Amino acid sequence: MKRLVLAGAGHAHALVLRALVRQPMPGVEIVVISPEPLAPYSGMVPGWLAGHYRFDEIAIDFAPLAAAAGARWCQGEIHALDPARRQLRLADGGTLDYDVLSLNVGSTLHAPPAEHAQMLPLRPLAMLRRRYEPLLERWANEPSDRPFVVTAVGGGAAGFEALLAVLSRLRALRPERAVQGSLLTRGTSLLAGLAPAARRAAFRALDRAGVTVQLGGSWCEAVDRSSDVVLWATGAQAHEWQRDPARRGALAVDDQGFVRIDEQLRSVTHPEVFASGDCASWPGEGLPKAGVHAVRMGPVLAGNLRAALRGPAGAADLRPHRPQRHFLALLATGDGRAIASRGPFGAEGAWAWRWKDHIDRSFLRQFEVPRAVSLPVDR
Ligand SMILES: Cc1cc2nc3c(=O)[nH]c(=O)nc-3n(C[C@H](O)[C@H](O)[C@H](O)COP(=O)(O)OP(=O)(O)OC[C@H]3O[C@@H](n4cnc5c(N)ncnc54)[C@H](O)[C@@H]3O)c2cc1C
Repeated sequence: MKRLVLAGAGHAHALVLRALVRQPMPGVEIVVISPEPLAPYSGMVPGWLAGHYRFDEIAIDFAPLAAAAGARWCQGEIHALDPARRQLRLADGGTLDYDVLSLNVGSTLHAPPAEHAQMLPLRPLAMLRRRYEPLLERWANEPSDRPFVVTAVGGGAAGFEALLAVLSRLRALRPERAVQGSLLTRGTSLLAGLAPAARRAAFRALDRAGVTVQLGGSWCEAVDRSSDVVLWATGAQAHEWQRDPARRGALAVDDQGFVRIDEQLRSVTHPEVFASGDCASWPGEGLPKAGVHAVRMGPVLAGNLRAALRGPAGAADLRPHRPQRHFLALLATGDGRAIASRGPFGAEGAWAWRWKDHIDRSFLRQFEVPRAVSLPVDR
């Protein structure tokens, strides 16, 4: 029996599993492996940071989803890949062979050490949760009432949304204590790629929240000293095993360690290995590391994995992915409003937040599995 391994509880794999629920693949053993069964949906992370949602409300539970798709859920983590032997080496020392492998393991952030401030890298999201919850507890119980400074480093959507969300949460928990916000980016502008009207709305939102913006600035000891918490939100980086030739074998990666793929989402060197979402390097100019791209790749990936498992007979059914260059971006501003941007159009308001909430909740609802499904689980 052939074995398909889905590594990473990423957005594209959630859609692959949903497709398998609808159309099972008999005669193929499917294994899903990831460190945690609860996989947060990136679009709702700022809403969780702001306290609008509980963590379980923003997460896809992969264990029941895998069971409903006829797959085996396995809690674990890739340590290394040996593409020549078609084998994964896992962090617990075990190995897992595959006929077809699909990587949807996301990206990470390597934050510099901070001596004074508490460093909170925004990725991986599971780690963010482990650090954010104790921070809120400390905030709620700390007797001090001196002003508190939260600095976000990074001028993209993640830093912008996370900063506004965290400020709103801290202020709501302790309205009597002063919280200052600061946004630092090396770039000369914020939120590149948004419509001009959306960028202006973003600056207004930062102004309402009392955030000081420093363009063209870099992380340094002075920023460390003047901050209590640092939200590290610079560009996505590839996982350590992808960047280390000794741990990824001959799998082709780009100069940052992201897996080089073709338009059918297959490794350019190992066609039995697929990669999607943040961990992949799209041909040509690449794609921004955004959840929306991982989501869009999901249906094509589902079809192509099915085709690849049929061997040479399935080759004619492999389809190219056609990335969307313009898509709707909805950025939460932490105050019950959101900014909408698509192509040259931008606007903001409470209506945009309600719209975003509706879209995000509907997206997650499609992965809910009735509780009656029994779970074949490996731990
Ligand atoms: C605060 C924040 C807000 C964001 N908001 C948005 C937004 O509104 N819209 C948007 O489009 N993008 C947003 N992004 C970007 C978005 O989070 C990523 O682009 C998206 O999550 C990538 O999806 P993915 O499917 O590639 O991987 P992920 O969703 O990151 O999933 C990767 C999975 O792989 C698992 N994994 C990791 N390492 C291993 C391993 N070694 N072995 C096995 N499994 C592993 C992880 O645990 C995780 O389950 C945001 C990012 C942040 C940090």
